[in-house]
Amino acid sequence: MILVSSCLAGLEVRYNGTHCLNEKINKLVEENKAVTICPELLGGLSTPREPAEIVGGDGDDVLDGKAKVIGKSGKDVTEFYIKGAYAALEKAKEINATIVVLKENSPSCGSSMIYNGQFVGQKVVGNGVTSALLKRNGLQVISEERFVRDI
Ligand code: SF4
Repeated sequence: MILVSSCLAGLEVRYNGTHCLNEKINKLVEENKAVTICPELLGGLSTPREPAEIVGGDGDDVLDGKAKVIGKSGKDVTEFYIKGAYAALEKAKEINATIVVLKENSPSCGSSMIYNGQFVGQKVVGNGVTSALLKRNGLQVISEERFVRDI
């Protein structure tokens, strides 16, 4: 079974109420080969919500207590992101996920790139919080870009 970001399957769960439908991923969900998760909703946030970025590092640093997830207004939302990451891990274990495909660039789901924490639209190399936790637990996490290209 494959675990995928909900927004990639067309669910309108992004911070601004939109989705980022990927046809190949949505087809897997329709064929019952993939299960959707949105770590930010699982963590207790709702849609719409304030955009947030990781400040002071990446998702690994958040898990290690060295960086925080901060909303655009300056509110510390780290706890929601960590809670969502653990909920995603539980789900991955529950369905015996063989591979996890998550939305690139998100502070939760990014698996190779995230925004740099300055809300200026610039990306840096790094994991989102959920990707970092899943990788630490031995799961193969890739972006939708890599999934479409390589798999
Ligand atoms: Fe999509 Fe992940 Fe953001 Fe949820 S947390 S909207 S699944 S990128």
